[in-house]
Amino acid sequence: MNDKEKSIKTEEEWKKELTPEGYHVMREAGTEPAFTGEYHNTKEKGTYRCRACGNELFSSETKFDSGTGWPSFTEPVNREQIELKEDKSQGKTRVEVLCRRCGAHLGHVFDDGPKPTGKRFCINSVSLKLDKE
Ligand code: FE
Repeated sequence: MNDKEKSIKTEEEWKKELTPEGYHVMREAGTEPAFTGEYHNTKEKGTYRCRACGNELFSSETKFDSGTGWPSFTEPVNREQIELKEDKSQGKTRVEVLCRRCGAHLGHVFDDGPKPTGKRFCINSVSLKLDKE
């Protein structure tokens, strides 16, 4: 993705466009409480896009029930759409998942997912918008 395709906004612009909860999660790397998000239990088919910029992120085909209370996926639609970053906050080392287009915090990825990838992309509902099929 080149810089022209990126969506770069000021914090003031994001504050206006996002809900307070969305801003907290996507711009301040917050986490929505488990089992409260719009999509933790959703089984409808479609594409999950970044709620901030519309970037295509995950397919319902790779969504699975992780029992964690957050939407979980085995892989992104395309590795180019996301960015992974080491996160050493809260006394743990985790891998943060961000939208490559707008830099929104999406969640984290863990190595305890099901086959075929063994990955568990643990994503906040508030960072996603389901485009139903
Ligand atoms: Fe985005």
